[in-house]
Amino acid sequence: MATSHFSTQPYPLRVPNLIGGKFVESKSLTFIDVINPATQEVVSQVPLTTNEEFKAAVAAAKKAYPSWRNTPITKRQRVMLKFQELIRRDMDKLALNVTTEQGKTLKDAQGDVFRGLEVVEHACGMATLQMGEYVSNVSNGIDTFSIREPLGVCAGICPFNFPAMIPLWMFPVAVTCGNTFILKPSEKDPGASMLLAQLAMEAGLPEGVLNIVHGAHDTVDAICDHDDIKAISFVGSNVAGMHIYARATAKGKRVQSNMGAKNHAVVMPDASVDATINALIAAGFGAAGQRCMALSTVVFVGGSKPWESILVERAKALKVNAGTEPDTDLGPVISIQVPGYESGNFIGPTILADVSSDMECYKEEIFGPVLLLMEADSLEEAINIVNGNKYGNGATIFTRSGVAARKFQTEIEAGQVGINVPIPVPLPFFSFTGNKASFAGDLNFYGKAGVNFYTQIKTVTQNWKDSDSEDKINMAMPTS
Ligand code: NAD
Repeated sequence: MATSHFSTQPYPLRVPNLIGGKFVESKSLTFIDVINPATQEVVSQVPLTTNEEFKAAVAAAKKAYPSWRNTPITKRQRVMLKFQELIRRDMDKLALNVTTEQGKTLKDAQGDVFRGLEVVEHACGMATLQMGEYVSNVSNGIDTFSIREPLGVCAGICPFNFPAMIPLWMFPVAVTCGNTFILKPSEKDPGASMLLAQLAMEAGLPEGVLNIVHGAHDTVDAICDHDDIKAISFVGSNVAGMHIYARATAKGKRVQSNMGAKNHAVVMPDASVDATINALIAAGFGAAGQRCMALSTVVFVGGSKPWESILVERAKALKVNAGTEPDTDLGPVISIQVPGYESGNFIGPTILADVSSDMECYKEEIFGPVLLLMEADSLEEAINIVNGNKYGNGATIFTRSGVAARKFQTEIEAGQVGINVPIPVPLPFFSFTGNKASFAGDLNFYGKAGVNFYTQIKTVTQNWKDSDSEDKINMAMPTS
């Protein structure tokens, strides 16, 4: 099922770069196949962009910057207002593209687009988050105020698992703040980024404000090294994220790096059995476990035996099939080969019981439909297990006790906490606040922190005294 966004291209479709407002086919000699993980069909091919093309994209972004940063914020917001309307118009097309290239079910793909759309909606009113501060008369006749200004050319490097939502975490916030942008989509599923870029331009984003370069490690390194790129947003694995963080910060760039996870649910014996098991199944196996906030470990306080058989029974009832089939619960994973089923990366829900913290399956992120079951004698012990894990993306507790919930919320080290909520991903007026090994940097994605990431503060001190009495040179440090 080929995507239809560049229908003049020969099949297999070569995905163009977007440079200075034009979709241009790369002159690269190397292309990577984009594979439909449900069928192994080649959907399209992405180029390993040449260095000249990459430099041309940065030059286009740099050229577009002065006029875009001086475009009134109200006008920039209005582009977002139109953009969100166009995303809604093309929701089905976007979702189908996500399912085709990434594999998740169509309903889940709609959620992928929708959670990104919410960031665009938030960007429509982002001016208030860019307001500065003012203190009048800090000294006689002197006022000081601060203003938030854009940084210049920023860049975003995306993972495969949310092909629509994660690009939308990045460029709408960056450009509404007045920056111009270079986006590098995942080489595994670039289609949604291309569709979104077309819509952004249809919404009135001027040429050069958003540019797209495809590629893999070399393109990422070029982004880290280029002196005209001021900030990098990264979402993906720890290997890539820490490499990018180290390389780009050494070059003086701002970096926000959202990385891997091992998200825990602590289940207290007083939790509602039915609702909790349904939540564990949905959060563990939804999107085939390929969400950074997917649940990967359940710690049963007081023993797992009463829960295990029901959990296994409900997991067995889930339907594994292509994401385009209407009754599918989980689609294929992005890559794996199961002997005998070579033409689909399908893997069924998997539950591993009696897991302990020293096991490899516990220490590493699996990023598939695998749920680990552990046991603890007390809430205290369960909290210690969770806090002993290196990751700190999300953790959740299922209980009817406010006291237990409050203790958990206070003592748990994960950055996103759920209380009877299995996947506590904050909406765009908050920020995505993973911590420990799940995040590097100090300004999180979207919300207030996202605006702070894409802007810098300038502080102005002005003297408008109505006299020229100070005609003496004063060599001392000025004091008020
Ligand atoms: P990935 O790290 O393999 O790829 C992400 C991006 O980095 C891609 O654009 C890729 O081209 C580039 N890249 C990969 N390896 C690189 C290297 N060695 N040097 C330079 N660039 C490199 O990640 P993925 O497999 O696409 O995505 C899954 C991972 O992303 C999981 O670990 C998941 O937890 C994480 N993730 C985290 C969040 C979050 O918000 N914390 C959200 C989504 C996904």
